[in-house]
Order: sequence, then C-alpha cells, then structure tokens
Amino acid sequence: MDEGQIKIRATSSGTRGKRSRIALDEETYRLGMRMVFRTFGYHHVISPIPVNYIVLGFEPAGAEQTGAAQTAYGTTKFAPALHREYALKWADGKYVLNIDGIKKTLMRWAKTEIPVRFVGFPGYMYFLVRSLEEDGIRLRLNRLSKVLMGGGWKQTGALAVKKDELYALIENTLGIRGERCKEFFSAVEHPVAYCACRCRHFHVPVYSRVIIRDVDTLMPVPYGEAGLLSFVTPLVGSMPLTSVVTDDLAVMHDGQMCGCGIDSPFFEVLGRAGVSEIKTCAAGAAEILEAGQ
Ligand SMILES: [Zn+2]
Repeated sequence: MDEGQIKIRATSSGTRGKRSRIALDEETYRLGMRMVFRTFGYHHVISPIPVNYIVLGFEPAGAEQTGAAQTAYGTTKFAPALHREYALKWADGKYVLNIDGIKKTLMRWAKTEIPVRFVGFPGYMYFLVRSLEEDGIRLRLNRLSKVLMGGGWKQTGALAVKKDELYALIENTLGIRGERCKEFFSAVEHPVAYCACRCRHFHVPVYSRVIIRDVDTLMPVPYGEAGLLSFVTPLVGSMPLTSVVTDDLAVMHDGQMCGCGIDSPFFEVLGRAGVSEIKTCAAGAAEILEAGQ
C-alpha cells in the first residue's frame, strides 16, 4: 500500500499527535457546497423548521478542531438551530463525556413541540439509546425529529453496533422511526457526501467513482469481492486528492440489487485493513466513550 496515501488519512483525521489540515480553495468549497445542498436536498435533510440539536461528537472548541467536530457542527446548519447540546464537551482543556447532561436535556425537550435532530457518531447514538433503555426512559419526540449519523461504524469490541438493534432502540426510546434515521459517509481527504438510501446503502453519486482494490496488487476487483476502498473525484482542486486509497475494507454491489430505485452501484464498509497506528476521529471518540464507561 502506498505510504503517502495512508498518511493523508492519518494526519487529517487523527485526534492526537501531529495533524495537517486539508485546504480547500474557494472554487472547491463552492462546488462542494453545491454538492452537499443537492445531496442533502434530495434526501430531505434540509428544512426551514427550527430544531434543537443533540451533537453526538466533539464540541468545536479548544485545540481539538478535528474534521469530525467541524462536520458535526456543519450538519447543524441544515435546519435552523435553537440549541445545541454536545456529547463531548470541552472543559478545562479536555473533552468530557456528557451523556447524563444529554439525557436530562432530552427529557426537557420532549415536553416541547420542537423537533430534535441527533447528529454525529453512530457509536454514541447507540450508547445514548441503550442508556435510555436501561433507565426505562421512553420519550416521544416531535414526529419531525431526525437522526443523522456519520462515521464510526468500524469501532471494534464493545462499540461495534448492530444497525438493526440501533434502529429498534432509537424507535423504542425516542419515538423516531427508521425512515427518519439517515446515515452519511465522507472522509476529510475525500469530501464527497454519501447519503444512504432508504435501504441503508451508500450508492455512488455523480460526483465520484468508487473502486474496490485488491489489497496486494491494488487492481480493481469485481462486484462482491472485498478489497481496499478507493475514491476518485475531480472535486478538490487545491490538493492532490483526486484519487485516494483508504485503509477501509469494503465490497461493491450492483445497484440493481438494492431495490430502492437508485441504479448506481453501492458499497459496504467491512472494517479497517488492520493498520493499528492510524487513528480516526471516530476511533478517538470511541476511546473517550470507553474511558467514561
Ligand atoms: Zn438503495
């Protein structure tokens, strides 16, 4: 595997040690914003109705301005924000877990008619709804409430989440049905927005091409075979990010197999390719979560 290609990911999305930033020029930013608004508009994420936000990730403060913190905060722009409550609050120079604070806030918000949007890591969403379930808390949030989850399906051990179980817990504890839960996929080094279809699959949008590569030869493999997830997009003009090979293992399927009506192929992320020194934002958040348990 090309060392340089791995470094882009490690340095742009790590939560400790040296980290470089991905710089976007104005034209890339403008094109990117247009892509995001078109994608999120298509998937009914953009709304003029004011909402309260539960941000399941880092508060954008202090020195830890990670890509994930910026993305989670950015996701609170698609419907006007009345309030934001964070799962990881910045206090006294470090991040502290705020699940109890979120639970109290949710019980207060559930008494109002204001919709609630949850944005951030699925691992945190799972931890939150499981905690509500254990406490016997059953809320019925406004029917326009939504769950928008991105990044971090690949945590291991205690935080590995079964999607069906997560969706069932969300409906039980918050009253938010599966069709109002949306999953997103993106990467700092490949800032194309992937939004799951109603069958929870990531189809390849017009803005990119996705190639699954053999782990040894890097040659493309056919549908149904696992390999390294690789992205190609002309979107970023400011840095050499046209083609990126990630350390994720994934498999691609024929779009017709999904049944949602979107014909482009879709990919499934299976996990990391076993490079332990690489640490993503989601993995960093998982560590704080495990330490707080
Ligand atoms: Zn689909």
